[in-house]
Amino acid sequence: MKKLTILGATGSIGLNTLDIVRQFPQKFRIEALSCRNSIETLAEQIKEFKPRLACVDTIEQARELRESFCNGHYALETKFVCGVEGLVQISSDPEVDLVVAGIVGAAGLRPTFSAVQAGKIVAVANKEPLVMAGELFVKTAKKTGAKLLPTDSEHNAIFQALHDEPPDRIARLFLTASGGPFRDLPLDEFEKITLAEALNHPNWEMGRKITIDSATMMNKGLEIIEAHWLFNTPVAKIDVLMQRESIIHSMVEFIDGSFLAQMGLPDMRVPIAYCLGWPERLPLEIPRMDPVSLKTLHFEAIDPNRFPCLPLSIKAAKQGGGAPAVLNGTNEEVVAAFLNEKIRFVDISKTLASVMRKLDETLQQTVTDFPDKIPDFLLKIQTLEDAVQADQWGREQARKMLEQVL
Ligand code: MG
Repeated sequence: MKKLTILGATGSIGLNTLDIVRQFPQKFRIEALSCRNSIETLAEQIKEFKPRLACVDTIEQARELRESFCNGHYALETKFVCGVEGLVQISSDPEVDLVVAGIVGAAGLRPTFSAVQAGKIVAVANKEPLVMAGELFVKTAKKTGAKLLPTDSEHNAIFQALHDEPPDRIARLFLTASGGPFRDLPLDEFEKITLAEALNHPNWEMGRKITIDSATMMNKGLEIIEAHWLFNTPVAKIDVLMQRESIIHSMVEFIDGSFLAQMGLPDMRVPIAYCLGWPERLPLEIPRMDPVSLKTLHFEAIDPNRFPCLPLSIKAAKQGGGAPAVLNGTNEEVVAAFLNEKIRFVDISKTLASVMRKLDETLQQTVTDFPDKIPDFLLKIQTLEDAVQADQWGREQARKMLEQVL
């Protein structure tokens, strides 16, 4: 029996994970769950799965939740912890075998890292920590024996296609993209995009932040950086391809000209179950793809003018150092502003471009004028703290620039 911690139990990844656990009660036991806002959903999950530990954001939430159980005369075996320390505790708990990292954004950095430090099997659905500090994660995993299992659908597809073949056999990695809701929108209509339109993804049902990242194609940019670290492959060998149907989830071209792709209906339970069951496969009960009814699959190149976040990400990926963490922090800040309807859709990529320009100027100017004043975290991410600082630097620049927009 595998013992699981789910970070972000009430989000899209968490709900899908619990759906699989429900199908295989003899194989998995939930040791710990965490959630930030959806306390009522968490309360239901606690009743159903009876975890030993549950982590919420604040001590008040923990108290209220415990009281609500007591009032219902419910015999509660669950112990509550809270905040980042609580997340770190449930990620590194000695009883836990596998941690599902399903928190969204940079908030997942510390808990995911603590799971890696504790040598756990980590199902990595939360891509931002790898974007911010990929090298540190990979090095630490090597040291502690932690296993990073790619759960993002594209990376899971590549992981399955690669099947442990060494990186020197990879000619190219192709990450596929649906193109999101604006793949065919005339460019002169981008100025008028509304929040509801951006949240309306054609193929995948996901959380709000990642859905906006899909609409801007930033998600694919982050995925390039994620793939670079997970598969030890240079950024120049990673391509993005539009696959409208979201049936081919990504593919590998090997040095002998063979292409291996993984396909199926767009359903996050498949990559999650692959990670939960690894190295075995689970006989999953889900709707199946019917190849005959598919008829055609479309592949198209991505237009960088339509999706300017993609070239910005590729540049940051090649730049390395603190650039990916700056990019990610900036993106989280501007996406939050868009979700709060403070800025327009087009302001996301504009602000991102301005901050990355500012980063270049800072690095170049400082190099020539004050060589000793370059903040270390912009040059190299050596510690988790460096990643946090680079992320904060990006957020601060973004906030300053947004003030001018607002
Ligand atoms: Mg993905």
